Amino acid sequence: MSWFKAGNVEIGRIVESNGPFMSIYDFFPDATAEALAPHREWLEPGALANDMLIMPIQSYVVRTPRMMVLVDSCVGNHKSVKWFPAWHQKTDDDYLRGFTKLGIHPDEIDVVLCTHLHVDHSGWNTRLVDGKWVPTFKNARYMLSRTECEHAERLWREYKDPTYAENVQPILEAGLGVLVADDHEVDESVWLEPTPGHTPGHCAVHVASQGQDVVITGDLIHSPIQCRFPNWNFKFDADKAQAGRTRNDFLTRYADCDTRVLTAHFPLPSGGHVRSVDDAFHFHYIDD
Ligand SMILES: [Zn+2]
Repeated sequence: MSWFKAGNVEIGRIVESNGPFMSIYDFFPDATAEALAPHREWLEPGALANDMLIMPIQSYVVRTPRMMVLVDSCVGNHKSVKWFPAWHQKTDDDYLRGFTKLGIHPDEIDVVLCTHLHVDHSGWNTRLVDGKWVPTFKNARYMLSRTECEHAERLWREYKDPTYAENVQPILEAGLGVLVADDHEVDESVWLEPTPGHTPGHCAVHVASQGQDVVITGDLIHSPIQCRFPNWNFKFDADKAQAGRTRNDFLTRYADCDTRVLTAHFPLPSGGHVRSVDDAFHFHYIDD
């Protein structure tokens, strides 16, 4: 996928990294070998290899006739991510090269949206210059869910989770942050959809143009196996009951329709259609 068209909107992707992430049994505490057995044939090796989930970290770029919107900003460089050593203090230019591959420049981004403020969705909000965090997208307004910002700020205050201090506070101090409602309309063809559970202010991003619909999921769902088992929660979902309700509602709403679903972490190409099957769902990828 370079760019694909949905009406008069174009959508591209920037992949920061891709590969084995975590054991499926650690990631989904409800997963069992018995439950997985009938699904290994379609999961392996693209989505699951040696019981490790294969997951990309990526952004989507939405180009409407009026603006260029970045959805999620991956992990970033020099960030404090002690729980995942591959991300901790990393330095590479893979992400910024992705803009060149799409034929655009970070300075062209008009709006940054984060589906939520976890480290792999807000990292490139900032970059380290001369020991100071500065906005990477200096011409953008960063439209951040007020609910999500308050949650991230609380995690910083109470648990010293550095994500807020590194990825959010510098944006607000630079005057580029705009706190918005969880159903905020960004543009006539781009708006937020509240999808709480993984985090309190988690939002999907809906894109619609000329009768074509696309929805960018963020982390309301992490793996195609959750289409089969929508009640399997990621161990770090903040409110597991709410996350399960949101995931079930989402899959039911978008099953068997033309809406293209773009996920954050399903194996590349990560996008496709939700189809109902038996008593659950299946994900049909579109590779363009
Ligand atoms: Zn994520």
